[in-house]
Amino acid sequence: FTIINASYAATAVNASQYPEGELAEIAFIGRSNVGKSSLINSLCRHNGLARTSGTPGKTQTINYFKITGKLSDQSRLEFMLVDLPGYGYAKRAQTARATWSKFIEEYWLNSERLKLVCQLIDVRHPPMESDINVYRWLIEHGLNVQVVATKADKITRGRVAQHVQIIKKDIKMPALNPDSQIIAYSAVNGTGRDELLDVIRNILLK
Ligand code: GDP
Repeated sequence: FTIINASYAATAVNASQYPEGELAEIAFIGRSNVGKSSLINSLCRHNGLARTSGTPGKTQTINYFKITGKLSDQSRLEFMLVDLPGYGYAKRAQTARATWSKFIEEYWLNSERLKLVCQLIDVRHPPMESDINVYRWLIEHGLNVQVVATKADKITRGRVAQHVQIIKKDIKMPALNPDSQIIAYSAVNGTGRDELLDVIRNILLK
């Protein structure tokens, strides 16, 4: 599965601005500075597609990118990549509900086209309380979550493996869930890219 085109599609600050159409959605979420823009740009091989939100706490927007992929039989597969605002700026208010606005909660609860949430967690550190709360909240609300451990090039492979185990334990990832593999990703050297694309393809073809 390869991505052959990625382009900006829409920005929404409320539900009336969700783009029209039926495209399946794959969402990306994580603490600010986790490497979300870098991952999106590396996944799409399109520098500058996603930009860092800049000032923490600024207006929360949902950004949509239309992605066209090509399967090995040359057929096309389109989906919407959804970039959600980073969480975790607030020192207080670390419950999942408090980490995002009503608008973002509405997105999670009402987007029928949402097939998968990729939750990004920095591989170098144990998950923060906000990461754990967000993961638990998404799972409890029946969403499909793929955890991606970012910045894998910053530590040795041995440490990556160790830290992935710590993340699994801390977020209480269901052990028997067949989808419970964490993907270690590096936007710098492309580690994990094919693996994440495979997960996305499989979800879209389900
Ligand atoms: P965002 O706020 O989550 O969108 O984070 P960014 O994508 O802007 O990344 C935050 C910082 O981490 C930037 O300085 C990036 O260059 C750096 N970064 C992001 N991903 C990686 C990665 O995979 N490897 C390394 N070494 N640095 C990364």
